[in-house]
Amino acid sequence: MARNPNWHRDELILALDLYFNMSSGLMNASNPQIVELSKILNKLPIHTIRPDEVKFRNPNGVNLKLNNFKAFDPNYDGVGMERGGKLDEEVFQEFRNERIRLHQIADQIRKTVENDQLSLELYSIENEDSSEIKVKEGRTLYKLHKFKERKPLINKKKKEFILHSTGKLLCEVCDKDHYHFYGELGYQYIECHHKSPISEIVGEVETTLDDLAVVCANCHRMLHSNISVFNVETLRNHIRI
Ligand SMILES: [Zn+2]
Ligand SMILES: [Zn+2]
Repeated sequence: MARNPNWHRDELILALDLYFNMSSGLMNASNPQIVELSKILNKLPIHTIRPDEVKFRNPNGVNLKLNNFKAFDPNYDGVGMERGGKLDEEVFQEFRNERIRLHQIADQIRKTVENDQLSLELYSIENEDSSEIKVKEGRTLYKLHKFKERKPLINKKKKEFILHSTGKLLCEVCDKDHYHFYGELGYQYIECHHKSPISEIVGEVETTLDDLAVVCANCHRMLHSNISVFNVETLRNHIRI
């Protein structure tokens, strides 16, 4: 049988958060917290292809992953632990001195995934090339951001924006008027960007018109390229230098 996919960064974030909050003597496959993490990982909207569905992130595998972290941990004084992979080490080093931040991200991911309906919806949001998109908070929360920008509210937002900008639909970052530039082709050609920082985005909260900014596709792409850093204002200042 084909092997299951390698662990994704989001999965490692959840595992590492549990690792830091569990004494090493309690790490075994029947520990309820490890069983619980196994369930959460199975709901994470990351891997759609799972060749071995039964073994996919089962408690044994989760326990093994937690134990792999021991090899990187200077505070662990036991011996004989098999080292995890390269990404395991990267995630460990990234967060070893940022445990509060790690816990916040893990918590947001868990809250998102606990909502079954939302979790299913997030599977349908396409994965983007992670080399182009830097999201410290991970893929699940990035998908949640994109989910909150989807259709139902966009037309309302456009109407509201037009009302307040004397009939024009300008990008809030670059001020470009696509109708003016492209003629009919550019009529109402605009996207919506959710303004809440990704670090504050929470699973269940409804999106309102005030949460959205009207941005052109190019600026939206730029905002997403480093979404943990840029917002509408900072990108606006950035292009005016
Ligand atoms: Zn723009
Ligand atoms: Zn956006």
